[in-house]
Amino acid sequence: MKTVTVVTELRAGGNEVGFNAAYPEGMDACLCSLVSDAGYKVNLIHTSPEHDGSALTDEILQETDVLIWWGHAFHHFVLDSVAERVANRVNRGMGIIFLHSAHFSKPFKKLMGTSCALSWREANEKERVWAIDPVHPIARGIPESFVIEREEMYGEPFYIPTPDELVFLGWFKGGEVMRSGCVWRRGRGKVFFFQPGHETFPTYKNGHVRRIILNAIEYIMPDEVASSLGGAHVPVPLEPLD
Ligand code: ZN
Repeated sequence: MKTVTVVTELRAGGNEVGFNAAYPEGMDACLCSLVSDAGYKVNLIHTSPEHDGSALTDEILQETDVLIWWGHAFHHFVLDSVAERVANRVNRGMGIIFLHSAHFSKPFKKLMGTSCALSWREANEKERVWAIDPVHPIARGIPESFVIEREEMYGEPFYIPTPDELVFLGWFKGGEVMRSGCVWRRGRGKVFFFQPGHETFPTYKNGHVRRIILNAIEYIMPDEVASSLGGAHVPVPLEPLD
């Protein structure tokens, strides 16, 4: 059975009464049940000022085929060594999905090598998500466009390396646009960034969004994760083939 590990911030989307109403059960539980209902084994790891990500142990990483990362306010509490280990495993083949404000997480920045800054606005506004590559496997079953009634605006310029595959474009009521669904190859692994998912809105209960996340898991799922980064990076003797 393939394993998906979900990393979210503690109390993201309402683990505490009164935090907010979008996820009375917790955004973590919402994401975990989406993944487990699809037949994957799920691990859940929290980050917070008291949780520095070290719960994402080598043992858990070693069994993880795809990692999903959602973070917002606690990025800087995550140890650099954890981001390093995550990026190393991506380079060896693990798939990774960064959701929404995880664009500023340490592992995303490490894998991108750019500032990953963008413009944003919290105004409860409508977003229209366009599947600009409608035949991409991550867009399977998704209409040409769909509306998320309330989202946080994330807009360009988004300081990322040019995506290897651009699947979705977001348009906001204020007129801004955003590369909202992007794939990169890093070493043997694939990275998917998906922009919707502000914690005060029930975005991860939207049927199209759920389908996109499951499609992405399938698309970036490795057959296997290599035990090393590959390539000894040493001179090799010339051995003529004929
Ligand atoms: Zn947000």
